[in-house]
Amino acid sequence: MSGTAPSLEKGRGCRITESVSKNTKKMGVTAVLSQEEILKIFKNSGALWEGHFVYTSGLHGNKYIQCARVSQFPEYNELLCKELAGRYKEQDIDVVLGAAVGGIIICYELARQLSAKSVFAERVEGKMTLRRGLEINEGERVLLVEDVVTTGGTVKELVPLVESRGGIIVGGAAFVNRNPERVKFDFPFETLLSTVFSDYPPEECPLCKEGIPFDRPGSRTLAK
Ligand SMILES: [Zn+2]
Repeated sequence: MSGTAPSLEKGRGCRITESVSKNTKKMGVTAVLSQEEILKIFKNSGALWEGHFVYTSGLHGNKYIQCARVSQFPEYNELLCKELAGRYKEQDIDVVLGAAVGGIIICYELARQLSAKSVFAERVEGKMTLRRGLEINEGERVLLVEDVVTTGGTVKELVPLVESRGGIIVGGAAFVNRNPERVKFDFPFETLLSTVFSDYPPEECPLCKEGIPFDRPGSRTLAK
């Protein structure tokens, strides 16, 4: 039981998966999940956290979306990536480039569905870097991937990795855009959930003012 995605209704299997596969069969196109279905997947997985958080961007806020909770269920990860992959399937993507750690599982699954190469970048002394012999070659068409964007900073850090190697950035994708009004890119950017979440610079954070201890669930400071 623990290895399977939580069912939407007890004892009736995953209704989202069933209804999507039915739609796919009927329409003969890539599955399209409604916002309601996507939200249900996040809620079902326990991926929406409340508390006091310091995001990778350095901003503070009271909500956190832990995509790892969703992606721990391959069935959900596949389904959500199918929705994103569908939006890029005509774009001849050669490489999906994800930001470690959150972007890796999404990157891999998107690459699998787009028949592309899965490459991830990781921070070395604070700087996004390609390691482990992973490369992007001249002329390759690249899709940038992250799990959650708050300011878009991490995705923007991936841009020079591609451009310095002569790769072509076709677009970007993330499961969640926490602030669609603030996050702007010079290329198309597709997300599953786009919601404005309140966040604050540390000095303006009301939770800090109340002295509430915070969590740092992001991976910016992760060692390796
Ligand atoms: Zn705070």
